[in-house]
Amino acid sequence: MSGPALHLAGVVLPEGEHRDVWVRDGRFTFEPVPGAETVSRGGWLIPGLVDAHCHVGILRGGGHAEDLAEVRAQALTERDAGVLALRDCGSPVDTRSLDDDPELPAIIRAGRHIARTRRYIPGLGIEIEPEDLVEQTRVQARRGDGWVKLVGDWIDRAVGDLAPEWPADVVAAAIAAAHEEGARVTAHTFGTDALPALIEAGIDCIEHGTGLTEDLIGEMARRGTAVVPTLVNVENFPGFAQAGEKRFPTYASTMRRLYANSGAVVRAAYEAGVPVFAGTDAGGGIDHGVIADEIRALCEAGIPAEAALAAGSWKAREWLGLRGIEEGAQADVVVYETDPRAELDTLQRPQRTILRGRVVA
Ligand SMILES: [Zn+2]
Repeated sequence: MSGPALHLAGVVLPEGEHRDVWVRDGRFTFEPVPGAETVSRGGWLIPGLVDAHCHVGILRGGGHAEDLAEVRAQALTERDAGVLALRDCGSPVDTRSLDDDPELPAIIRAGRHIARTRRYIPGLGIEIEPEDLVEQTRVQARRGDGWVKLVGDWIDRAVGDLAPEWPADVVAAAIAAAHEEGARVTAHTFGTDALPALIEAGIDCIEHGTGLTEDLIGEMARRGTAVVPTLVNVENFPGFAQAGEKRFPTYASTMRRLYANSGAVVRAAYEAGVPVFAGTDAGGGIDHGVIADEIRALCEAGIPAEAALAAGSWKAREWLGLRGIEEGAQADVVVYETDPRAELDTLQRPQRTILRGRVVA
């Protein structure tokens, strides 16, 4: 399965040194391998991109795939965009059989979204009441690959605005239960009110996080809580506002305010030292294969280009427990023609892709 011995020469990131790299038995080595085939020379090498928030199996425009070929096509689209690992932030489709497919990126799953009854997109999550949250968190912790995904806030139609889904004491017990199961926890939040309880309870990551305040960012930085801003999806907020305007004018104005502040929130989080990672929220409202757009958006929000690239590559891999281009590591590498630290647009055009030691593109 690991294929023939390979040789690449180029600038290896993040170190930035020109090196010769060999691949043998699916792993990197810096020791020359006689007879290895040279498959790339002269480019910039990264250990692949990471989409830290996407959904494999959810269809564009709603619903989920019934056919595994459709699901596979989504993962292939990510790979062809240079994504060699992705974090699936909740899917109703059992994609476990894709793990045996050598053509596809690594999928690190969060099980299914856990949402309050009628407080999320219909059909995607497990919908429960607070008394079942701890038990369901354990179920999803065992179903996933080390992550659990909570829906932290959503529109409350009785209130007419975003509101937390769970009481603070229940969410704290659920996060503790996930940690006992050896899983990390992340939560979807758009607004502010759900955040203090989640962060205080030791949640590991916040998705979107558009409602983060200076105080909450300070607390996350102190605790090492990460954020995945999904800026390409936040671009949909004005559309959400418009759709809700008539029945929920307060919600609409909240969404417009969150949208207006979204870039500043990302910049403040980065500057405070909060770990920021690149994720697109592909599936549903966003196409797969747009991670380069998200890295660009993080940069435009004020994160320096090299740090934005790290947030969508080696730093994200490390966060997910995956290694970079180093001796003995699994040989995952994407080659670009120009230096992506200087020119993020080169990420749109991967020149050569090696996944688990095999040339796949
Ligand atoms: Zn999502």
